[in-house]
Amino acid sequence: MNSSIFRYSILFVLLLTLGSWGEKAHRKINSSCVDYFPKELSRLKVWAPVLADHSSDADFRKKDDKNEFVRHFIDIDNYADFANTHIIAEDFKIACTQYGKGNVIKNGTLPWVTDSTYKELVQDFKSENWEQAKLTAADLGHYVGDGFMPLHITVNYNGQLSHQTGIHRRYEETMIDKYIDEISFKTSGIKKVTNVKSYIFRYIYDNYSYTGLLLQADSRAYEKAGKEFNETYYESLWKETGLFTTRLLQESSRTLASFIYSAWLEAGKPEIPESKGEISR
Ligand SMILES: [Zn+2]
Repeated sequence: MNSSIFRYSILFVLLLTLGSWGEKAHRKINSSCVDYFPKELSRLKVWAPVLADHSSDADFRKKDDKNEFVRHFIDIDNYADFANTHIIAEDFKIACTQYGKGNVIKNGTLPWVTDSTYKELVQDFKSENWEQAKLTAADLGHYVGDGFMPLHITVNYNGQLSHQTGIHRRYEETMIDKYIDEISFKTSGIKKVTNVKSYIFRYIYDNYSYTGLLLQADSRAYEKAGKEFNETYYESLWKETGLFTTRLLQESSRTLASFIYSAWLEAGKPEIPESKGEISR
């Protein structure tokens, strides 16, 4: 097995067994987004439990759809353009021409998939298909959340390149699950996003800066805990990353709310029926 196939299979297994952020974090991101809705969307607040229940559907699809797994990440630091200019070609076709379609797919298609899911939501609103709209919104929340998870935007997604293998699960699942009750979001106003694709790339570029901080925090916590992943390790990891982790989760939720609002505006503000957002699973 050559090394890239090997790496690909490891990633495949990892992404199958792990849920991006863990399931709890995805639930929180999705269900909290309704707290940011402006008055005009207040009838959609009833979506909260459905958005939570379907927040990891996109991860579960990986089992049946082999095309799904590249949709959850982008190894942005695999692009020389990113190292040199901190941006990459953002148009999918241009990116394919410039970097080769195979490379673009292999490096993960998260930003483009987030954008196309947004467009689907606009269509669902236009056709007033409220049942489908909430499921599409749940998927959108999942992909937005992945874009705010620092280890989903780096080639060193599991610390395997810096002798920190296993950081993915330690951070997103074990640590978050331990401290989820301490995470609370500040609500604030949201605005219409005019260029969704460019907005997505901006947050991916910005969130990339947290990969370094996270990996440093992991190393320090490991040393502090006597080279073990014990309680001391997790306390230290949380102490060093809790602030920005909370911010990343909060911004995921706020971004999801902005996207839902923008999609509804772009669809021409279809009238939201009173009880259509209610649970029907
Ligand atoms: Zn995911």
